[in-house]
Amino acid sequence: MIVLGSNELRADVFDRDLCIGCGACVSLCPYFKSYNGKTAMLFPCTRPQGRCFAYCPKVEVNLDEVSRYVFGADYSPDPLGRYRFIKISRAGSRAAPGNVQAGGTVSSLMIYALEKKRIDAAVLTGSKGLLPVPVIVTDPAAVRRYGSSKYAAAPVCEAFNQAVNEGYERIGVVATPCQALALAQLRRNPLGEEGFIDRAALAVGLFCTWSLDYREFKKFIAGRVDISAVKKCDIPPPPAEIMEIHTDDGRVEIPLGELRKLIPLSCDYCIDMTAEFADVSVGVLEGRADMNTLIIRTERGQDLIDGAVEEGYIEVDDIPDESLEHLLTAAGNKKRRALKKAFDEGMINTGGAGRRSYLRIDGAILDKMV
Ligand SMILES: Cc1cc2nc3c(=O)[nH]c(=O)nc-3n(C[C@H](O)[C@H](O)[C@H](O)COP(=O)(O)OP(=O)(O)OC[C@H]3O[C@@H](n4cnc5c(N)ncnc54)[C@H](O)[C@@H]3O)c2cc1C
Ligand code: SF4
Ligand code: SF4
Repeated sequence: MIVLGSNELRADVFDRDLCIGCGACVSLCPYFKSYNGKTAMLFPCTRPQGRCFAYCPKVEVNLDEVSRYVFGADYSPDPLGRYRFIKISRAGSRAAPGNVQAGGTVSSLMIYALEKKRIDAAVLTGSKGLLPVPVIVTDPAAVRRYGSSKYAAAPVCEAFNQAVNEGYERIGVVATPCQALALAQLRRNPLGEEGFIDRAALAVGLFCTWSLDYREFKKFIAGRVDISAVKKCDIPPPPAEIMEIHTDDGRVEIPLGELRKLIPLSCDYCIDMTAEFADVSVGVLEGRADMNTLIIRTERGQDLIDGAVEEGYIEVDDIPDESLEHLLTAAGNKKRRALKKAFDEGMINTGGAGRRSYLRIDGAILDKMV
């Protein structure tokens, strides 16, 4: 993997408007800050290599290298990435997670992981108005406060870096696909730092087709909804084509067509809908607002799910064929759209040295994906 410094990060990510604000470059040095839904580079640093570049999910990521670290095998062209099983799931009787987005699987798994001391801290995302605010949680009972989706990118990896700085040893993270990719990159110790220990003990991924630019979303919503009264946002499955904003006074519907203008450019290049580098990935089950789709990917993900089912924290069932088919189509469509855009713009490197691009993928695998 090529590891460069913050000057190259600026050229490849900030100048191309590809920063998604994941926060992986923040809290490592004094030069990067998250502010009001964006990441700012405060000062140019001249070091030739830095963790900022090494962890960023929007530089030229070598998917084979990341995949080999997480799965012990090359990147898979499957629309859902590498996985063991796909199930449907929801919270079990032991977890009763409170305000959740769908089946409450994610909150229940984090409660389970904290209660059983599989992790000593969980990085979750709460909110301040519409602004997603990552938090470090150690009390299982507090997990319930941070359920439900905030539809803007959040500096989750910054909170992970802070948790490492604070001395937590086994950190669990709930992450969107771009955040999960950053996390997988930093776990590999890409700079070969002496004494490095991988502190990411669990990555629970969220499906994500797109997010919204927080600042644009806030401007758009002001005047239509009292932002201080927003309790939850939800995107019901097709053919609804709306976002529902639930407030203290009721519910407002916004057509998705109007919101699509507020999607950051970076999401257009994102090939991952299902958090392919997480231990387990969770989405909404189409047509069942109270259930999740659950993808079990790694050995430790499998172990977590087996334990959580056995102890009644979650319930699982087989995924209906039709749901699996829809999932494969949605994830495949997102991948093809993004790959085509990146390819047409010369942003894919299929192996040659050449200029730095956005993704490095083996040519044969690329052919299978498109
Ligand atoms: C930006 C975004 C886009 C999404 N798009 C899709 C989609 O296209 N299809 C689909 O099936 N599912 C999508 N999801 C996931 C879905 O909304 C649910 O989060 C998921 O199904 C888990 O449901 P649950 O009931 O188990 O979640 P809960 O138990 O309510 O837990 C939700 C968890 O998500 C975390 N979280 C909330 N917002 C963020 C954020 N911005 N960044 C990181 N973590 C966050 C919270 O900390 C909480 O732990 C998206 C989520 C987000 C945040
Ligand atoms: S690491 Fe994340 S926050 Fe930093 S530049 Fe890359 S995408 Fe932006
Ligand atoms: S679409 Fe991709 S880049 Fe955009 S927020 Fe979701 S995971 Fe991140």
